[in-house]
Amino acid sequence: MSVAERFIIPWWEAGAKEAFSAILFDIDGVLVRNSTPLPGAREFFNRIVEQGFPHMVLTNDSARTHREKAAVLASAGFRVDHEDLVSPASALEYYLEKHGYANQKFFVFNDQNIEPLRELGIEIERDPFKLPSCDAIIIGEYLDDLQEFLWQSFNTLIERPDMPVFCPNPDPFWPSCRPTGFDIGSGSVASMLKEILHHKGIDLDVKYMGKPYRGIYDQTLALLEAKHGVDLSEPKRILMIGDTLKSDVAGAVEMGLSSALLLSGTTSQAMVDRAYATRINAPDYVFDGFSAGGSDVGARDV
Ligand SMILES: [Mg+2]
Repeated sequence: MSVAERFIIPWWEAGAKEAFSAILFDIDGVLVRNSTPLPGAREFFNRIVEQGFPHMVLTNDSARTHREKAAVLASAGFRVDHEDLVSPASALEYYLEKHGYANQKFFVFNDQNIEPLRELGIEIERDPFKLPSCDAIIIGEYLDDLQEFLWQSFNTLIERPDMPVFCPNPDPFWPSCRPTGFDIGSGSVASMLKEILHHKGIDLDVKYMGKPYRGIYDQTLALLEAKHGVDLSEPKRILMIGDTLKSDVAGAVEMGLSSALLLSGTTSQAMVDRAYATRINAPDYVFDGFSAGGSDVGARDV
């Protein structure tokens, strides 16, 4: 589906908002790029907040707490409440609680927001030499001590291939301040572990929580219903606004939600054309952004 408007704000104000009951926002490439607000993003987001329109903010950042993440957005001028954030870390808590993992002992590799785990009474083990004594593994962000982690988890999983392994953030890489612009993500660590075990005849079933996997959406929808009374029987009335086909749009398609792709992030028009041609991860709407550059009215208000 395509619309004549190139920007979300005029499309929304012209009547599109009547078609939706809630909005889900991606952060990077949608609200900000390298912590700098994108044109019209603050104007639109803050208006949604003022109007009390049901919304949630979805991040695949699994290392920072929601308060830390909200503070970053607040310093960029977004009136975001940390309680409206959902991350792979909170989605993991939601999953673990539902599946009876409370009060177990987890090995946590590197940076992971463990606040939600503590709420469930989960004991955290950080020493890789004690990994074999744990009930499950969580692959957090960054690569420090990767060799020791791979060695211990590989040898443990050979003996106990049913030991649950969670990789909350599935991203294979993420935008960073390195000269190349990217850093290797936890999804790549999980892939490496799967590959090594595959050659030992073990197909490791890693459980991912972030976009495009349903864990983060399951928690988001539950919160929309509980906090805002959103009717989940009409998922097409929930709009996901994102900038990637494989993450934001794929997740929305999987969950039956509507999706609006913004070309202000990592996706080009050629990639969108390919998605429509193949009908794989094709968004419902495509926009250049929230508004044309230089018209960020909200910037004067914050
Ligand atoms: Mg993004």
